[in-house]
Amino acid sequence: DDVRVNADLDSTLDEAEARYRAANPRSLARHQAAGAAMPGGNTRTVLHYPPFPLAWAKGEGATLTDLDGHRYTDFLGEYTAGLYGHSNPVIQDAVRAALADGIVLGGPNRYEAELAGEISRRFPSLELLRFCNSGTEANLFALSTARAVTGRAKILAFTGGYHGGVFYYGLAGSAINAPFPTILARYNDAEGAAAAIAEHAADLAAVVVEPMQGSGGCIPGDPGFLAALRAACDRHGVVLIFDEVMTSRLSPGGRQALLGITPDMTTLGKYLGGGLSFGAFGGRRRFMERYDPARPDAIAHAGTFNNNVLSMAAGRAGLTRVLTPEALSALNARGEALRERLNALAGKRGLPVQATGCGSLVNLHFHRGTIRAVEDYQGDAEANARRAKLTRLFHLDMIAAGQYLALRGFMALSLPITDADCDRLAAAVDEFLATRGRLIETNAR
Ligand code: PMP
Repeated sequence: DDVRVNADLDSTLDEAEARYRAANPRSLARHQAAGAAMPGGNTRTVLHYPPFPLAWAKGEGATLTDLDGHRYTDFLGEYTAGLYGHSNPVIQDAVRAALADGIVLGGPNRYEAELAGEISRRFPSLELLRFCNSGTEANLFALSTARAVTGRAKILAFTGGYHGGVFYYGLAGSAINAPFPTILARYNDAEGAAAAIAEHAADLAAVVVEPMQGSGGCIPGDPGFLAALRAACDRHGVVLIFDEVMTSRLSPGGRQALLGITPDMTTLGKYLGGGLSFGAFGGRRRFMERYDPARPDAIAHAGTFNNNVLSMAAGRAGLTRVLTPEALSALNARGEALRERLNALAGKRGLPVQATGCGSLVNLHFHRGTIRAVEDYQGDAEANARRAKLTRLFHLDMIAAGQYLALRGFMALSLPITDADCDRLAAAVDEFLATRGRLIETNAR
């Protein structure tokens, strides 16, 4: 019977893939042409999925149009960077105005200090901050700052954590991580982490943690776990870095405000640049003031595009004119409602499917048990491979239903998403649960 179920999954996936190929000739042609100068036709691994990804021609509000002319509701929200949607008029006007005054000016501009001030006002733990170009860079600079100010070498991160292209701590490891001496601890294991911090204290510069693991599958950190990290770092003089690149959107002051925990440093990115390239790192005055170039012992921090006018202008317009606390709380409430609804649909059918996350960040998992760390949903290689196929089938079925989300089941709501959009997404998920129920039952874990 196992053999038959496997054959079912394989043939169903084959059918879905054949349908996808037939529907998307222009995306396929683009993919093939792109392979000439880019490995696998790809320049950002997460955007690849087999047999080839849809390529976008256009985005408007929360609607994407692909090269073949199909329209999708964008539930991916550019992995959280697309919070404002694709055509917010305030953002577009800000970019146009900045563009009209010239770019690559090679000096301070009128926007950067205002954006910094607005971020510091919203996130008071960033007493001082500096800009960079991505979340990856923000973490590189925050970790390097911690190493410089403590004179210690090691960092502690968590399995399942993702802090950028060179800070990836998935269970499979990464060949290109930054060569910092790194201790890994299990997420949401307060005792284990406290013990690891104590053990390495003499040489430990920083603990870096996402208040909710994003790439790891939208796994919220327990308040008690994060408080225990705060206490252990205090006890041992270790710099606690909250990576809020994704979670800063969960309230006007990020998840740290919701939890009432103040990290020593915070890293930011994504939507805070209004949808353009962006990163920021900051925290305690006594660390960050070392970057004052007028100081005799100043630490230098470079980056040609750190204050690029388009990101600074778009980011400032977004925070000061679009993303009011009310708008943000409505967005997160919509995400909560969607997550509850998806869980209710799975529960009603008794299927091993669950939606995790916080606020406007949602991840659907084909897994029955509680997920508190990535280890919780890992099986043996065979089980993982079957679940991966099920996940691919889900993704292809959602695309066929006009719903765009990440292959891994991740969704980040954007401001232009409506309740009607959520209704259609929920209906598409329910249809998948109805038609693929037996495959889910046998291939989830
Ligand atoms: N930290 C977290 C928590 C992230 O989710 C990401 C991006 N997905 C990064 C850092 C890296 O940001 P960027 O892609 O801008 O380098």
